[in-house]
Amino acid sequence: MKDRIDTINKRIEEAASTCGRDPENVKLVAVGKTKPVEDIKEAALAGIDVVGENYIQEARTKFEALSSYEISWHFIGHLQSNKAKYAVKIFDLIHTVDSLKLAYEIDKQAKKIDKIQDILVQVNISMEESKSGITDIRELFDLLRTIGTMENISVKGLMTIPPYYNEPDKARPFFRELKKLAQKIVDDKITDEFSNISMDELSMGMTGDFEIAIEEGATLVRIGTAIFGTRL
Ligand SMILES: *Cc1c(COP(=O)(O)O)cnc(C)c1O
Repeated sequence: MKDRIDTINKRIEEAASTCGRDPENVKLVAVGKTKPVEDIKEAALAGIDVVGENYIQEARTKFEALSSYEISWHFIGHLQSNKAKYAVKIFDLIHTVDSLKLAYEIDKQAKKIDKIQDILVQVNISMEESKSGITDIRELFDLLRTIGTMENISVKGLMTIPPYYNEPDKARPFFRELKKLAQKIVDDKITDEFSNISMDELSMGMTGDFEIAIEEGATLVRIGTAIFGTRL
């Protein structure tokens, strides 16, 4: 596990350096979904400090079991509004906010525990039916303007999941598009208008395509298989 993590960190560093970026600005999120607590523990001991999880119940179990470890937990799965209550208790960053209903619920639940919940807005750049995320730009801007008025949510950037390709370079246009969208949000002064909205983070890139994502500006890469092995 240590070797695999070292290898990934080297590849992240190389990808960043090659395109003139500071590797410090790319954070590795180790995706632990379906993997046992022991695996996450081993990863933490090998230097992993951010873990991404997709399922609330699974994350709650792991969070409890590993409470003595310095792990920052990120939620990267599809979040149902009725689970927002649990999500705000555990996660430092929720990558997958894609509706007003969910944003309202997160704001409400975060308020209850006196927390400002950091989130990313998930955009469905490829417009695949099977994927979550906002497809309409107008809707994205409306969502941001409404979240801008919420007191217990802070938007840090955008997240996307491109279609899966055997050739990672094919995912490049989708990563590039997400970066352009974040820039458009800045250019349209949304980040000036609302103090709780910034566009510093781009969550994109997985085991098969993270180097391409880094070249296109990723600040958070979500990597499971290359660290924990294939999932059943
Ligand atoms: C499972 C998952 C990952 C990790 O995928 P790998 O190909 O195993 O690296 C990344 N992001 C999301 C949203 C996931 O669900």
